Amino acid sequence: MSNMSCHEAKRKVYEYLGEELDDTAKQEVDGHLSGCSLCAEEFHLERTISEMIISTNPRLIQSSDFYNRISNSLRSEIE
Ligand SMILES: [Zn+2]
Repeated sequence: MSNMSCHEAKRKVYEYLGEELDDTAKQEVDGHLSGCSLCAEEFHLERTISEMIISTNPRLIQSSDFYNRISNSLRSEIE
């Protein structure tokens, strides 16, 4: 059972999508998402948006700071 807070989970969602998390951290996020429908919905939404951005702008993924820029802007909305 994960004791990760929703706030922490939402921060890690963007790191998850940016492949910044190791397997252990991903499992922690997955554990929270499996027990928290709110965060699971948000994760699904963010992943869909990210995939749309990448599929329409495939060259963006080659930019090493692409996810950093996205996650920083999204994080600033949360905090
Ligand atoms: Zn949650």
